Amino acid sequence: MKTRLSCPCGTALSGADEDELVAVVQEHLRVEHEGREYDRDMILMMAT
Ligand SMILES: [Zn+2]
Repeated sequence: MKTRLSCPCGTALSGADEDELVAVVQEHLRVEHEGREYDRDMILMMAT
């Protein structure tokens, strides 16, 4: 299961499971990278 992702901006994001990671990443994108959106598949592809 993938639970961590390093955003290109340098922020380390993580969640308890894949669902939470996706939510955390999408929230980070919304707050820090307005206009950028990744869907679940893309997020999980980049996650480790
Ligand atoms: Zn970022």
